[in-house]
Amino acid sequence: MPSEPVTIAALNQYVFCPRRCGLMYVEGIWHDNEHTTLGTLLHEHTDAPGYETERGVTLLRALPLYSSRYDLVGRADIVEMRAGIPTPVEYKKGPRRQFDNDDIQLCAQALCLEEMFNVAVMEGWIYHATSKRRRQVVLSPTLRHATLQAIDAVRRLLEDAQVPPAVLMPRCDGCSLRAVCLPELTGAEASLPRQQHYQRLLSSQE
Ligand code: SF4
Repeated sequence: MPSEPVTIAALNQYVFCPRRCGLMYVEGIWHDNEHTTLGTLLHEHTDAPGYETERGVTLLRALPLYSSRYDLVGRADIVEMRAGIPTPVEYKKGPRRQFDNDDIQLCAQALCLEEMFNVAVMEGWIYHATSKRRRQVVLSPTLRHATLQAIDAVRRLLEDAQVPPAVLMPRCDGCSLRAVCLPELTGAEASLPRQQHYQRLLSSQE
C-alpha cells in the first residue's frame, strides 16, 4: 500500500526534535503553549488563500504545495512571483535568528515549487515577526541534502510508527509537549520499543 506523503510541517518538527514529531504525527498528540499560540495568531493573515500584485511582484498567499518526486505536501505562507520565478517566504514569530528546522522547512517548500513551476529556486526568506525583518536563506547543496535526509527520516519514522526516545535539551523548555513527553522521566523508557515496554510491564506484575 503506498505510504502517505510526508508533510513539510512534520519536517520542521522532526528537525526541532524527532520525539516531538513522533508524538504529533504517530501518536496524534498536540498541546498549545504561548509559543504555538503566537505562531497560530501570526499565521492568521497568511492562512487565507489569495493573491495580490505590487510593483510587478505577485504575492500568492497560502499556496498548496506538492512534490511527487519527493512525495511531499504542504503549504507556503507567501510565494513571491517575479518573472515566473517563485520565492517562498515563511512567517515566524520572534526576532531575526537562524534555526535549522526553519531553513529545512523553507527548502522543502522550494523543492515543491521547483517541481510545480519547472524552474530553479535559488533562495527563500524567513520573515521574523517581532523584529519585522526578513532573513535570506540560500538553498545551497548542503541545505538541500539536509532536507532530503530529513524527508527520508520522517518517512521512516511514520512507517515504523515508533516514537523516538526523549533527549532532554534546552529547547525542551519551550516545547508545548513537555508535559506529555516528560523528558526527565521518559528518556530511558522511551528508548525501548513499544513491545519491550509491554514485556517489562508484564514481568513487573509477575
Ligand atoms: S520536551 Fe524535549 S524531548 Fe520532549 S518532545 Fe519536547 S523537545 Fe522533544
